[in-house]
Amino acid sequence: MTETARGNLFILSAPSGAGKSSLINALLNIHDDIKVSVSHTTRNPRPGEQNAEHYHFVDVEQFKSLIEKNDFFEWAQVFDNYYGTSKAAIENQLAQGIDVFLDIDWQGAQQVRELVPDVKTIFILPPSRAELEQRLNNRGQDSQEVIADRMAQAKSESSHYAEFDYVLVNDDFDATLKQLESIVLAARLELSAQKIRHHPLICDLLK
Ligand code: 5GP
Repeated sequence: MTETARGNLFILSAPSGAGKSSLINALLNIHDDIKVSVSHTTRNPRPGEQNAEHYHFVDVEQFKSLIEKNDFFEWAQVFDNYYGTSKAAIENQLAQGIDVFLDIDWQGAQQVRELVPDVKTIFILPPSRAELEQRLNNRGQDSQEVIADRMAQAKSESSHYAEFDYVLVNDDFDATLKQLESIVLAARLELSAQKIRHHPLICDLLK
């Protein structure tokens, strides 16, 4: 009988439009033992977004009451809205050996690094500034003003890339997905987890 090692915690950050959500979704489709934490936000749902699936959509009052109850693992103000990861969204999964991804900004990443020093942090860069602008336009969901604002935010978000353990440039989607997957698979082979998972084998070999 092998024991279950705790799941790994990952942070995936990127400027808006770098392809972060598509990469996470593709990764979840390949691995059913990876989950993405569903954050709380005060922003309005975009077309097609479902409550409790993409985000828990709450108002500012509800968000502030969750802060007061100390229910958040981390939270931050991003653009004009609040975003936060609840403790409930991650702890059970990690304890069951499931790898959990947090799709959060650099401010959240800084908070989580303090709480979980062995968190694995990944930053996704778009292949070029022009491509990023194109991708933000192609969404067709936000106004020109919002897009211009997000381009400025993209620069500010990207300026934090060097705080992350891994940096991926999302030029070729499938190649970037492979790179992301390889980070997850390598993390599972780290000594701390393998020691627990293969305890009987190691005891037997070292008899
Ligand atoms: P969007 O509104 O496009 O879904 O997300 C905007 C930004 O908020 C993204 O950079 C996203 O990673 C970040 N974000 C989403 N959820 C959270 C969260 O729970 N905490 C933090 N700190 N940032 C978040």
